[in-house]
Amino acid sequence: MSTTTVLHGVPASPGRTSAPAARLPDPVVEPAPGLRLPPTSDVAAAAARIDASSARVRERLEADAARVQGEAREILHATAAIAADPALLDDARQRVLDDHLVPERAVWEAAEEVAAMFAALGGLFAERVSDVADVRNRIVADLTGRPVPGLPAADGPVVLVAGDLAPALAATLDPTHVRAVVTATGGPTSHTAILARALGVPAVVAVPGVDRIVADGDLLLVDGDAGTVTLHPVEETPAAPARVPVPAGPAVLLERGRTADGHAVPLLANVGTPADAAAAAAAGAEGVGLYRTEASFLGRATAPTVEEQVATYRAVLDRFPGRVVVVRTLDAGAEQRLPFLVDHGEANPALGVRGLRTSVAHPDLLDDQLRAVARAADGSDADVWVMAPMVATVGEAREFVERCAGHGLRTAGVMIEVPAAALVAGPILAHAAFASVGTNDLTQYTMAADRSLGTVARLNDPWQPAVLQLVAAACAAGTGRGRPVGISGEAAVDPLLACVLVGMGAAHLSVRPNALGPLGAALAATTKDDCDRAAAAALTGSSPEEARAAVGEVLGHLLQAEAARAHG
Ligand code: PEP
Ligand code: MG
Repeated sequence: MSTTTVLHGVPASPGRTSAPAARLPDPVVEPAPGLRLPPTSDVAAAAARIDASSARVRERLEADAARVQGEAREILHATAAIAADPALLDDARQRVLDDHLVPERAVWEAAEEVAAMFAALGGLFAERVSDVADVRNRIVADLTGRPVPGLPAADGPVVLVAGDLAPALAATLDPTHVRAVVTATGGPTSHTAILARALGVPAVVAVPGVDRIVADGDLLLVDGDAGTVTLHPVEETPAAPARVPVPAGPAVLLERGRTADGHAVPLLANVGTPADAAAAAAAGAEGVGLYRTEASFLGRATAPTVEEQVATYRAVLDRFPGRVVVVRTLDAGAEQRLPFLVDHGEANPALGVRGLRTSVAHPDLLDDQLRAVARAADGSDADVWVMAPMVATVGEAREFVERCAGHGLRTAGVMIEVPAAALVAGPILAHAAFASVGTNDLTQYTMAADRSLGTVARLNDPWQPAVLQLVAAACAAGTGRGRPVGISGEAAVDPLLACVLVGMGAAHLSVRPNALGPLGAALAATTKDDCDRAAAAALTGSSPEEARAAVGEVLGHLLQAEAARAHG
């Protein structure tokens, strides 16, 4: 009988569930340039292996296509067709016969040529570039005897175990299939953790070596609250529903956000796709406080066209007629790296060209995006606001606002997620119509602790006194200038901290849709005066623990409610 082992990591998304492990294969790496066959090799046989691999890849894709319906089936058929592309296969074969390259290197180079040709043709062809890369990876994996890259296919529910999980891949998780996520790396406010929480999938990150310790099929019990992963648990939880809305409370927002004594605090949603927007509307969101537009750009070799962007943005706006929707311009560069935008040689990407900074080298990309937002806003009944990520100076804020005005976008603001911006929030708000505090990045930059690194998760805590002081400064600047400063980082999900933020003067709170109900309930149980006292108490702490304890003294009713729910 297998020994029960408890592995410890960092809690990243709440909930508890058990299922067999399915490991995410390591990503396919580029075979070394110039890698050739040994001199005595049978070159013709090596070239023939390419056809055999391509046939196996095609067969697998067609079998997958047969199991699904609609658009997914179309995509799989189209990918299978690329795997059979004679131009690709002839070129690869020739590189083996003429240059004696190993088959995997030959396929890599031939696929690069096809991809470059598609990118140059533009339009619909350019959209196929990522499919070519997918086919290339599949054939190379087959040739080198590695598992098929991407999310593992399985018949029943699984716990996905990975060394690392890129946000682009996390965004495609199907929570009915992937019941929990466990990674060896990653931090609690990484975009992957945020996506897991939005899907309601329990997650534990920074579990050292988990991808090596656990084998496919091992039963795992994942506790996303405690941050533990039990390998071969003695007590198996029943085939658990993994969607655990936490903190506990009503699943949807029952009425508009306000304190017990009627102080209005609009409760908005953080969304990334039209599907999220639908979920947000169903959860009772009063609008969107943060529309992360990255999803339209991820996993592509070229930027989406203005028309494509208009269609996607319109689908989000149309869910919120008469309501505010804050569209954030592209925030690529750190965790979310785009091949057409980002310099992959940066040693510290989080401190490099990310967020608004990418628009210096690519002004056209920002202009296209603003054009698309303006066109989507035209003909929509939503009240569209636009904001820029990663603003650090007053000059950047002013230029962004002017640029938005040039596109007819009058309500332009910025995110405050760099300590420098929090400190000059007053002068920034002389130009920006509003601001939104991104506590995830503000915490990582204040504490000099990478948000995607589990080993420094202890520092990545928005209750840190230095972070609270910066948030308070930004909110006070908003109150002083009469301009709304909202909160869109994960800090607003914590009911205790949310009350503190309201006491600091936050004009609205924006959270993932499944946190809206519990947040509304916490605010409705608390007076504005209590929020003010909680904010003052929070600022007396000299550590996160002290700050939390001081706030607990004021908001004891929330702690009691929480404890009562936890004990059933
Ligand atoms: C933040 O940094 O707090 C934020 C809301 O933006 P993101 O998590 O997308 O970086
Ligand atoms: Mg951010």
